[in-house]
Amino acid sequence: MGLLSFWEKETYYADNDIVIIGGGLMGIWTAIELKERNPSLKITIVERHISPLGASTRNAGFACFGSLTELLSDEAKMGTDAMLHIAGMRYKGIQKIKQFVTEQSIDFDPCGGYEPLVNYGSSDVLNDKIQYLNQLLLPLTGVDQTFSNATNRIAAIGLKNFDQLVYNPLEAGIHSGKLVNGLTSIALHKGVRLLNGINIEGWTENNHSVELITNQPFQLKANKVVICTNGFTESLVPELKIEPARGQIILTKPISNLITKGTFHFDEGFYYWRNVGNRILLGGARNSDFDNERTTNFDGSNRIENILTEFINTHVILNEPVEIEQSWSGIMGFTTDKLPLCKSISTNIVAAIACNGMGVALTPIIAEKVATTLAI
Ligand SMILES: Cc1cc2nc3c(=O)[nH]c(=O)nc-3n(C[C@H](O)[C@H](O)[C@H](O)COP(=O)(O)OP(=O)(O)OC[C@H]3O[C@@H](n4cnc5c(N)ncnc54)[C@H](O)[C@@H]3O)c2cc1C
Repeated sequence: MGLLSFWEKETYYADNDIVIIGGGLMGIWTAIELKERNPSLKITIVERHISPLGASTRNAGFACFGSLTELLSDEAKMGTDAMLHIAGMRYKGIQKIKQFVTEQSIDFDPCGGYEPLVNYGSSDVLNDKIQYLNQLLLPLTGVDQTFSNATNRIAAIGLKNFDQLVYNPLEAGIHSGKLVNGLTSIALHKGVRLLNGINIEGWTENNHSVELITNQPFQLKANKVVICTNGFTESLVPELKIEPARGQIILTKPISNLITKGTFHFDEGFYYWRNVGNRILLGGARNSDFDNERTTNFDGSNRIENILTEFINTHVILNEPVEIEQSWSGIMGFTTDKLPLCKSISTNIVAAIACNGMGVALTPIIAEKVATTLAI
């Protein structure tokens, strides 16, 4: 008695040119990019959950370009050229998203981004840093003032207990569910197959192909495999040393007369919030408990939820007590050098992982690197 029917073998489980493991943004953009370059490729995305379950549909929905302190901190860690390279990828990534999906279909909101600061030094210190980054970023953005000092607008945008404020008009908000859903439809329309509910547990490989071991009583075969498992990579490819990092989010009940509108970063991006209509979505505080947040466990901690709630009360001007309606967590993947990773790990397998908490804008561009690495 065969496990699979003739029909199933010829369709759902037919051999592939390429199998992509992971149905988040990285996996979907990779499929789209490969099909754009070669429409005849037989490609399957394998996602172990019913819908993607990691970072892509559980994030904060910022089309992130990069806040001032984050870019300066990146520069200190990786050098000016690498920082500018990543910032350029993010900027191009946002443009690329808009070539594939309409702004309307993903609730693209070009609301701009703000970064409030505490104890950052004098306004001269801040203005010098703004000017320094603006000059570096001008060739990328074509905008004289990517960042500007908006300290005089702290109260006007509904914030309190901050010393200074930086504005970046290039940041935007999106609806993360609509983005992933819309891009998945594009991939399917291009003929990509999507198999949900199959966990890839390992593989065997020869010079020409890979047999993927699954949690089902059958294997999947492909000439090439792309691993897009982000924060869950440790169990498949431990040598890549991708660290999981849980990010927790709270969403308030609707707030009447909410003043705060836009996207906001604080503390090098460790706190991030935005309005979703008349609610506030706030995430972060991972830096208050790095050890316990280095996990793939989705059960959030009450401690972090309390810190986030307290942050809203401390920093957002509200006319009524804040009430939290929803909370959830997602799992990010971090490389040790904070750079995204696209790497051949064997003759037929490439890993594209770890967008380090900023994958919305980066994944479409890393997908191009995957295609080049696969020589497609
Ligand atoms: C709370 C939070 C807030 C964030 N906010 C933002 C933001 O505002 N802007 C921004 O740019 N970025 C943000 N990010 C980061 C961004 O969401 C990620 O960089 C991006 O979604 C990564 O996409 P991915 O496809 O690599 O990973 P994921 O979306 O995690 O996808 C990986 C998929 O692989 C699947 N998988 C794993 N192992 C296997 C296996 N063995 N077999 C089959 N399937 C498997 C998982 O089920 C998962 O669906 C945030 C992340 C979090 C967690």
